[in-house]
Amino acid sequence: MYTCGPTVYDYAHIGNFRAFLFEDLLKRWLVHRGFKVMHVMNLTDIDDKTIKGSQKQQMPLRKFTDFYVKAFFEDIKALNIEPADVFPRATDLVPEMVTLIKTLMDKGYAYRGEDSSIYYAVCKFPGYGKLSKIKVDELKAGARVSQDEYAKEEAQDFALWKAWTPEDGDVFWETELGKGRPGWHIECSAMSMKYLGETFDIHCGGVDNMFPHHENEIAQSEAATGKKFVDYWLHNEHLLVEGKKMAKRLGNFYTLRDLLAKGYDPIVIRYLLMSTHYRQQFNFTFEGLESAKGAVEKLRNLARRLHDANGGKESKGTVATLTSKLEACFDGSMDNDLDIGTALASLFDFVREINGLLDENKVSKQESADIGGYLMQLDEVLGVIGKVEVEEALPLDIDGLVQKREQARKAKSWKEADAIRAQLKVMGIVLEDTAQGVRWHKEKA
Ligand SMILES: [Zn+2]
Repeated sequence: MYTCGPTVYDYAHIGNFRAFLFEDLLKRWLVHRGFKVMHVMNLTDIDDKTIKGSQKQQMPLRKFTDFYVKAFFEDIKALNIEPADVFPRATDLVPEMVTLIKTLMDKGYAYRGEDSSIYYAVCKFPGYGKLSKIKVDELKAGARVSQDEYAKEEAQDFALWKAWTPEDGDVFWETELGKGRPGWHIECSAMSMKYLGETFDIHCGGVDNMFPHHENEIAQSEAATGKKFVDYWLHNEHLLVEGKKMAKRLGNFYTLRDLLAKGYDPIVIRYLLMSTHYRQQFNFTFEGLESAKGAVEKLRNLARRLHDANGGKESKGTVATLTSKLEACFDGSMDNDLDIGTALASLFDFVREINGLLDENKVSKQESADIGGYLMQLDEVLGVIGKVEVEEALPLDIDGLVQKREQARKAKSWKEADAIRAQLKVMGIVLEDTAQGVRWHKEKA
């Protein structure tokens, strides 16, 4: 599985992470289903933006991109995204790209333009447009020809190798192709085929990468090898913020770090960004974040209740029936093109039913352990529950308050009980009244 990674010139934004989280969900689901997944995600550390950024900071390119690579790894760790098996950096694979471009020139798919750059001749590849359904004729008609585009033979052709220009400063490679740097599209062909072979199973990315990026990857790779490049392409739809396209000028642009600085739990952000089907547009809202927080808390609460359950009566098979019903629905939905929405809906039905049984003290210790084990299995896919914290002994003053509230409740002094609950909430302690008595947990930030 190959997934187009970040361009490391800035912190990644939540639109980027929507893609990376959908890919994480896909990978976790395949592993859950018993597939062995080899995952490659590239890091684009050479392009116009990274060059400009490093010049602005007066830093060598590598040092500049190192900073954002490190930040990216911190971000995916916070979001509980499983790292790829390999994270190749474009600048480490320039020789592979040069070899690929030479093959394309030898085979007549590439030519040197008037500006010494090397271009891919789109009209030489009959299959061009098969992924995005774009027609080359329409491209020709619609292409805006800018000044520097006179260097190529046709407006729709794209650069495989960019000849050095003074704006590139000290960023260049001296190769058989001349002094310059690789184009963006060739990076992904070279990096994916190096680690996954000439034909591999799955390629993912955002829908905005379908054309021209992925269309160009196919053209380059298939022209060079004569083989099918990828069997399955999966593209996630755009992310909107409060109903609008995310843009810095609209003030609705968020990196993960912006949201963490506002105090949101990264796992809640994870849950929200992955909970909509990947082929649907996703509208990010702060209201959505609040309800995601509630959803994650519901799952964690159930895990805690099961963990601490003292054991009631046997459910007489109800637990087993509910569990296999959930399993069938969850698996069936996820197998159906990752229908996470339906899968989560069935999970929350299950949570409600089990909570009901627990309230009635109708779940045995063994059943609690079974449900807890199954939840943990599902969490290997969802990655939002995590390790259940065991209740620690309460500090004395808090314990005193909890007991005082219990007495108030027994005496039916609801007002006093509520006041104490509010006081504890301020201290970060959340109370829950259950059939087995009052329970508490620390509120996550
Ligand atoms: Zn790519």
